[in-house]
Amino acid sequence: MNVPAMQRLIAELRNSGIADESVLAAIASVDRERFVTQTFAERAWENTALPIAFGQTISQPLVVAAMTEALRVGPRMKVLEIGTGSGYQAAVLARLARRVYSVERFKPLSKAAERLLLDLGIYNVVVDINDGSKGWPGQAPFDRIIVTAAAEERPQALIDQLAVGGILIVPVGRDPTSQVVERIVKTESGLQRDTLMPVRFVPLVAGPLPVLGQG
Ligand code: SAH
Repeated sequence: MNVPAMQRLIAELRNSGIADESVLAAIASVDRERFVTQTFAERAWENTALPIAFGQTISQPLVVAAMTEALRVGPRMKVLEIGTGSGYQAAVLARLARRVYSVERFKPLSKAAERLLLDLGIYNVVVDINDGSKGWPGQAPFDRIIVTAAAEERPQALIDQLAVGGILIVPVGRDPTSQVVERIVKTESGLQRDTLMPVRFVPLVAGPLPVLGQG
């Protein structure tokens, strides 16, 4: 791992207001270089989103940090992530949670992430290839749910799969220029909602999985 570059990023996250030491430690322990394509390896520790396959992106570290902090993950928790992508966010969550369930609609992304996580010795992430807007009903309820793609509307299936006391973090917005991250807390008496920050995520695409052919 490029330790000086990692330390610069952690300092930057701290300066940007990330205060949860367990989140900073989790980010420090996951070598982001392994999750980006070779072309971008030198930029892996920059505080920027980078392209991965199929027109998708690995999120900006500050966004990963802020969303993870807002999720308030504890060591006994069962966490659902929608949008495995490179597997980076799942790896960070795996340091904080008991088990992470991560759903991705692109099979090659899911397979690559699964292999990489095992290579890194991260064994508490389970992946599934599916439309994550439906959640993972067979494993519900979840203590925490994080969506790493932008939903047009608050995804009801995910709210339904949240345990009482659970937290859902989800970027919401139809227009890519006006997305905000929402935090939804499920309580005995209903839902509490607040808005965290503006973001720019690739869309959460509901419906059938892509058929990947040649060309
Ligand atoms: N968390 C990822 C970044 C995700 S980019 C990381 O750390 O690298 C968003 C991902 O969500 C993409 O890989 C995209 O294919 C996936 N996605 C979009 N809509 C989805 C859906 N309905 N179900 C599952 N995955 C979806």
